[in-house]
Amino acid sequence: MSRIGLIGILLAFLALTAASAQEGQLQGFNRDSSATERQWESKFRAIPNADNQREYMRLLSARPHHVGSPYDKQNAEWILAKLKEWGWDAQIETFDVLFPTPKERLLEMTEPTRFTAKLQEPVIEVDPTSNQRSEQLPSYNAYSTDGDVTGPVVFVNYGLPQDYEQLERLGVSVKGAIVVAKYGRSWRGIKPKVAAEHGAIGCLIYSDPGDDGFSAEDVFPKGPMRPPDGVQRGSVMDFPSTSPGDPLTPGIGATRDAKRLAVKDAPSITKIPVLPISYADAQPLLTALSGPMSPPNWRGSLPISYHVGPGSAKVHLKVSFNWDIKPLYNVIARIRGAEQPDAWVIRGNHHDAWVNGAEDPTSGQIALLEEARALGELVKQGWRPRRTIIYCAWDGEEPMLLGSTEWAEAHDKELQEHAVAYINSDGNGRGTLNIEGSHTLEHFINGVAADITDPETELPASQRARLVRISRANPEDRQELRQRADVRIGALGSGSDYTAFIDHLGIASFNIAYGGEDEGGIYHSIYDDFYWYTHFADTNFVYSRALSQTIGTAVMRLADSDLLPFEFNGLADTLRLYAKQLKKLADDMRDQVIERNKQIDEGVFTATHDPRRPRIAPPKEEVPPHLNFAPLDNALDALATSAQRYQSAIAQRATKPLSSSTLLEVNRKLMATEQALTNSEGLPRRPWYKHMIYAPGVYSGYDAKTIPAVREAIEQKHWDEANSEIIRVAAAVEAESRLIQTSTDLLGK
Ligand SMILES: [Zn+2]
Repeated sequence: MSRIGLIGILLAFLALTAASAQEGQLQGFNRDSSATERQWESKFRAIPNADNQREYMRLLSARPHHVGSPYDKQNAEWILAKLKEWGWDAQIETFDVLFPTPKERLLEMTEPTRFTAKLQEPVIEVDPTSNQRSEQLPSYNAYSTDGDVTGPVVFVNYGLPQDYEQLERLGVSVKGAIVVAKYGRSWRGIKPKVAAEHGAIGCLIYSDPGDDGFSAEDVFPKGPMRPPDGVQRGSVMDFPSTSPGDPLTPGIGATRDAKRLAVKDAPSITKIPVLPISYADAQPLLTALSGPMSPPNWRGSLPISYHVGPGSAKVHLKVSFNWDIKPLYNVIARIRGAEQPDAWVIRGNHHDAWVNGAEDPTSGQIALLEEARALGELVKQGWRPRRTIIYCAWDGEEPMLLGSTEWAEAHDKELQEHAVAYINSDGNGRGTLNIEGSHTLEHFINGVAADITDPETELPASQRARLVRISRANPEDRQELRQRADVRIGALGSGSDYTAFIDHLGIASFNIAYGGEDEGGIYHSIYDDFYWYTHFADTNFVYSRALSQTIGTAVMRLADSDLLPFEFNGLADTLRLYAKQLKKLADDMRDQVIERNKQIDEGVFTATHDPRRPRIAPPKEEVPPHLNFAPLDNALDALATSAQRYQSAIAQRATKPLSSSTLLEVNRKLMATEQALTNSEGLPRRPWYKHMIYAPGVYSGYDAKTIPAVREAIEQKHWDEANSEIIRVAAAVEAESRLIQTSTDLLGK
């Protein structure tokens, strides 16, 4: 039975805000529809089953299942069959992408002593899947260029731009050298990029035990941490400064007959060869280094003196790859909306892994699967979502978001027209609910989190998140955590499948996971498997169930609400915070330069010079100019006003029904509010990234840069660009205000 036609008569927005006197009335619903929704939602939350999830994980992680492997395809087909069995209209959508696999890997020290790196993770007897050697991808970094280089070695800490500034002070250059960087503190692909920019000819990345090894807990299999020979695989595609997805088809779907670049012209492949290694393989190289001692905060937990190098050590690194095109199998499933089938609520988690991938991605995939089973069950019981729900099990996330990006690029126009929101997960664990996403839906997702029970504490998940944050916060943040109605959600950077949706298409997005209580050092190694997960992670799967309940509830609420639950006071508040941070960043940089110039003039660097530990004084720098933030401040004032007016209009509408056609029109406008924050020309030098508020950092990778064009211009000291980008951001914020105002006008009709 369709409810179309009745909405116009029955719909009365009895207080749509959380401040409602009608306790428990859901944002975007009226009293009746809210009660009905709550009934369906509690039925839903009773269905996900931890035993099923354990069984799905056992099956999906039983064999290695990277892109192009037999078990990757088999898993996709199994997921497809399950979704169909649960009543979904499901199919596999394929793309053809460049996926390099190792042909040759050689790392040897030739001087002062000979040492050949093992480059092999050993079988661990108690771990039954660690011996599947014939199907395991060897340890490597995908989209490293081929290379055969020999040179001296320099230790570069985490390999970030600021580490190279320190090296300059120490008088050490990496020109013509092979750098050794620690994993961590940035996305891994930043390390070879920055190394190449400084003239290095090769890059080794190792996992120091101080980061995810024995310094935290016992190593696997006694404990959860990385053993001496464990290696983190992973992509080093330079996606932050170009785009994620298939390197041969940037900006378009990698369909069979798509126009492709030649491999040599692909902009996102690294400039120098890269290889990830274990600390057992790194230690002999690091031990052989001489030269200055590294700064104290660079030193890890190996029993060695961490010299920077170079010295007499010489290393030979040779890597080459099979540059093959491989098929991707995205599983896409739909439940058609009963009233607004052309409005889509989209949910995804990838299914491919580097090896067996129990934690990454299967712990998220099993949450998605139980949501899908439960939603299918509700449909059998008579539930008809108002809008269409699309569930996606992505392939090729690990190489760099291939499946989701190609799908988003292939369907860009229709997604921009039809998508309400995209909700992502990519792994899960025990602990606190962590949400990153669009601030246009911050209030909404807080409402969802308030209705989920945390399995360990039995507190509402939102309350536990707030209290845990209070325990860790500084005094200023503590005050906000106690006073602000909503727990502030983090901004999305990158590192999972939401990237194309939010950054390229401007679709409101979330990434959601529980975590914080499990330590682990098996990320992207052969030990991320069912044995590890069921011994050290969410061993009874109660948080898999909680993740299903959380995301499934969000999906249902977005699919069923009368008025889409976008809200803009939180957005205005968050954007003001970001603007404040930018001003502080610019001021701090100015102060630093002034102070350092003063110290140079005073002779501080001469006075502190120790001839046995020579340091090179920094050069004097031009003092950064003051920037003009006025256009942004004015736009933010306008946004705050239109956000408040919108909320008042909703409150006033509470007792008056809204015609179904007006409601549709308002919802259509609300669906475009994330896109209003984009700019079709994109960010400077990386036009694929269209969002003016969120982006991954060019020099951080996964970490978000908020108001990225301005922030990065300041960080990179491009002052004119900072001023001109402030104007472009202000224009996006103004467009947002105008769109909110037109929605307000419609509500007032
Ligand atoms: Zn993942």
